[in-house]
Amino acid sequence: AAEEGFDPEDVEGAIEAAGHGPLPVLAVVGRPNVGKSTLVNRIIGRREAVVEDKPGVTRDRVTYEAEWAGRRFKVVDTGGWEQDVLGIDASVAAQAEYAIEAADAVVFVVDAKVGVTDTDEAVVRLLRKANKPVVLCANKVDGPSGEADATALWSLGIGEPHPVSSLHGRGTGDMLDAVLEALPEAPEQSFGTAVGGPRRIALIGRPNVGKSSLLNKVANEERVVVNELAGTTRDPVDELIELGGVTWKFVDTAGIRKRVHLQQGADYYASLRTAAAVEKAEVAVILIDAADSISVQDQRIVTMAVEAGRAIVLAFNKWDTLDEERRYYLEREIETELGQVAWAPRVNVSARTGRHMEKLVPAIEAALAGWETRVPTGRLNAFLGELVAAHPHPVRGGKQPRILFGTQAGTKPPRFVLFASGFIEAGYRRFIERRLREEFGFEGTPIHISVRVRE
Ligand code: GDP
Ligand code: GDP
Repeated sequence: AAEEGFDPEDVEGAIEAAGHGPLPVLAVVGRPNVGKSTLVNRIIGRREAVVEDKPGVTRDRVTYEAEWAGRRFKVVDTGGWEQDVLGIDASVAAQAEYAIEAADAVVFVVDAKVGVTDTDEAVVRLLRKANKPVVLCANKVDGPSGEADATALWSLGIGEPHPVSSLHGRGTGDMLDAVLEALPEAPEQSFGTAVGGPRRIALIGRPNVGKSSLLNKVANEERVVVNELAGTTRDPVDELIELGGVTWKFVDTAGIRKRVHLQQGADYYASLRTAAAVEKAEVAVILIDAADSISVQDQRIVTMAVEAGRAIVLAFNKWDTLDEERRYYLEREIETELGQVAWAPRVNVSARTGRHMEKLVPAIEAALAGWETRVPTGRLNAFLGELVAAHPHPVRGGKQPRILFGTQAGTKPPRFVLFASGFIEAGYRRFIERRLREEFGFEGTPIHISVRVRE
């Protein structure tokens, strides 16, 4: 590396930065108006988008990446509440429950100026039940005179209240230090506990595509191994189902089966639930209604799974209803609307008739295999050397930027770092990704490529 003009320490640093596995997840919960969104903005260091004054605005983005003191994690914002959907306590509880379920640690935000309300107490009960690490944020402590309000929150019985002003930033650093102490390095709770245990599948898709039908089909025809998770009295959230001789954990089946019919806010709940399920899973089976046009909502769900870096299988459901004409148009739609996941294995199924159910498992296994693929550095560089020689980067300003060497820094999904002598254009990056896929497979997985340029 050094002889190529890179400082070996920089090379190591770049590989380490790119090589992180799945990030731990922090959920920010609390009742409306306590300042959750303001706090999330502060944590992610951006002012964009999150705070919306209009109630009832649908947000489809609920997870963000953040970094504090050199550690990266994901933040789930639950600010998109809908007061009039279920009644305030129930709606706060419903949203908090999904977020807590998917989280490795929780920041519970209370308005210190208002003090403890019944709704806050309801959230505390949820937190106790979930048994995840909690950091208590006593928000709206804008100056020293508010400290006493924060102290009063010891009465919640969930530990030290951290006095914070999300609006001005006061105290957020200390609170984030406490968050880092509470967060595992890797996402143990939501993700990593089951190392060697059953693989985790999120069955996702917009309403009415057939998720609960498909779930019933696989759960009825095959054996539901365990229907209850130890120590919980409420509905089991996840279900172990044997398919193709292997036991899989379908995450958030309770959410699929419950079918809460909401008027307003339904989209937001659906987004939050989908995001939570995706965070908990290794592979997302995205169900699409083949009888219906591929919609923006389908694309958003696909984007969510891609951005979360999960293995992906596309399952086109209701195949029993398709005539030849629809099949023709569907193929065209897939090309134009789902180009971003052209690499995902695809199955055409019918939850009603059971058609091609047996193809689901091989597709899932192929996607997980792609997701875990590791290309040895020697092989990768032999490949890169040939590729660069045969297809050099276009000359720009009299210079020809070259990929000098590369390495795969991580898996789940595969992450590559390429080291170059100059700026590598987006088109050439896409070309490299295409060729990597042709050479090494990576079926069913997003891949990340970052490029370091020699100073
Ligand atoms: P959410 O509903 O919990 O997401 O709350 P928001 O983040 O939308 O904040 C609700 C209101 O409280 C907004 O008007 C914020 O500007 C205000 N707010 C949030 N944090 C603070 C704070 O630390 N101090 C003060 N004074 N106001 C705050
Ligand atoms: P979910 O909202 O995604 O859980 O969707 P459901 O499982 O509730 O299905 C929505 C509707 O589509 C129901 O009326 C189902 O009977 C119907 N449906 C689901 N799968 C199929 C299928 O494979 N073929 C046909 N014809 N209808 C289906």
